[in-house]
Amino acid sequence: MNNDCLFCKIIAGEISSAKVFENDKILAFKDIHPQAPVHILIIPKEHYDSVNALTEDSAAVTGDIMLAAKQLAEEFHLEKGYRLITNIGEDGGQTVKHLHFHLIGGLKLSEKMN
Ligand code: 5GP
Ligand code: ZN
Repeated sequence: MNNDCLFCKIIAGEISSAKVFENDKILAFKDIHPQAPVHILIIPKEHYDSVNALTEDSAAVTGDIMLAAKQLAEEFHLEKGYRLITNIGEDGGQTVKHLHFHLIGGLKLSEKMN
């Protein structure tokens, strides 16, 4: 746990969240400022600042996140599709420095990526 990290505090239960998925490695909860009808944040319980902090030993956690995303997409009836986004660093628009994937869906998303 990183004591200065908002998402580590959510994992520790020090800050409340609307949890939608949890296993030993992963937590998922609703984004507090949703940008779509479904907007879920999927995070590893281990703290990594971003994709840039991953190593060969830790990168497999992104696979666990993908499997959680797939299960959540089914539960939230996103049969028509959805988007997974991870922002990295200042230019990437990352505001919380704990690796997370946004699962966004429930509407026809823009073709524009930036
Ligand atoms: P980023 O901009 O770093 O990719 O995404 C951070 C996300 O975290 C934002 O979409 C923001 O709305 C969300 N967020 C920030 N603080 C909280 C919080 O306390 N609870 C929840 N559930 N989401 C948060
Ligand atoms: Zn953290």
